[in-house]
Amino acid sequence: MQSLEALTREAASLADGPRRVIPILSAAETEVGRQMQICNACRYCEGFCAVFPAMTRRLEFGKADIHFLANLCHNCGACLHACQYAPPHEFGVNVPQAMAEVRGQTYLDYAWPPALGVLYQRNGLTLSLALAAALALFLVLAAAMKGSLWGAAPGDNFYSVFPHNLLVGMFAPVFLFAVLALGMGVRRFWRDITPATSGAPLNRPAAAEAADAVLRLKYLDGGHGDGCHNDDDAYTLARRRFHHLTFYGFMLCFAATTVATLYHYAFGWAAPYALPSLPKLLGVVGGISLMAGTAGLWRLNRRRHPLHGDLAQKPMDLGFIALLFLTSASGLALWLGRGTPALALLLCLHLGAVMALFATMPYGKFGHGIFRTAALLRHAVEKRLPNPIGLGAD
Ligand code: SF4
Ligand code: SF4
Repeated sequence: MQSLEALTREAASLADGPRRVIPILSAAETEVGRQMQICNACRYCEGFCAVFPAMTRRLEFGKADIHFLANLCHNCGACLHACQYAPPHEFGVNVPQAMAEVRGQTYLDYAWPPALGVLYQRNGLTLSLALAAALALFLVLAAAMKGSLWGAAPGDNFYSVFPHNLLVGMFAPVFLFAVLALGMGVRRFWRDITPATSGAPLNRPAAAEAADAVLRLKYLDGGHGDGCHNDDDAYTLARRRFHHLTFYGFMLCFAATTVATLYHYAFGWAAPYALPSLPKLLGVVGGISLMAGTAGLWRLNRRRHPLHGDLAQKPMDLGFIALLFLTSASGLALWLGRGTPALALLLCLHLGAVMALFATMPYGKFGHGIFRTAALLRHAVEKRLPNPIGLGAD
């Protein structure tokens, strides 16, 4: 239900005539606006993260401001555990939860193509696992029909099970579509939040600062370096560390695939590559890191304080974590299974997991890193300019 404030804004926009249209806030956005008004009067949490300094630059919170702030929030829980107005107080201030609900809504609102945004609501653990299993089964049947499902592949060459060009033909379109869909979505988000964040163009110092915040996951340190919260009000660095293992593990695996593609097309060196070749080194280190990171994130997610974040998005979070884990575990199993008759079967399992990961990427948790990076970039631009209301922590 809309608050009186939101209805007043809508009435004001109508009274001002057709040329000035103020977007109507959803219930979740209205709730963020309400809580930000309370926080703006309190400001106890100013040093915790980027959200509160950004908040102090505003007296009103329009739709674009709220989308920007929601994606700037890392859901660290610090402001919930510090807040004297948190539930059961009658003010009911729970910033991480309110921000998470809007964040989920922004993924859907900015999805490209828009009609597929609804997939965010369906994307969960069951769908992710079922998709990976169905794709693996399809490949198992295809390999079985060729008579190459069980038995030694010549020279451990999995291209003898599925030819290289067939794999490229299957994976490249899905991957490229995922990149396009995510790119278009974040482009729309960027265009909407830019006017609300000063409108100034991106500059090098801002980009460097945002890159530093992203690569170090700066805002999961609680603002004091002791970490954020997970199960309760105790500080922990576990979330930050497991995120790092996951992120850098994923990047190393991606680098392994990129180098292998370069080897194949530029030098004509066909897979499989053995240790200590660069693709194998990157893949093994990345795979182990990704497995450890996702196993840790899974455990933390299951134990997460119920007031943190939006419980409705938990299945999406777990589905993404599960697919990353399956991708890394099956990739490592494929490597360990070289020289055994199970190679083709392991290959089918790995390809099924990778394909499911690519297919769900544009409409799942993967987007949170990209939208958050865009918000951090805009924050780094905005904070370099004088505070428009002449108040606050800047
Ligand atoms: S979360 Fe609570 S303590 Fe923190 S600024 Fe808002 S009202 Fe104040
Ligand atoms: S949950 Fe953490 S990142 Fe989000 S607003 Fe609160 S302190 Fe900032």
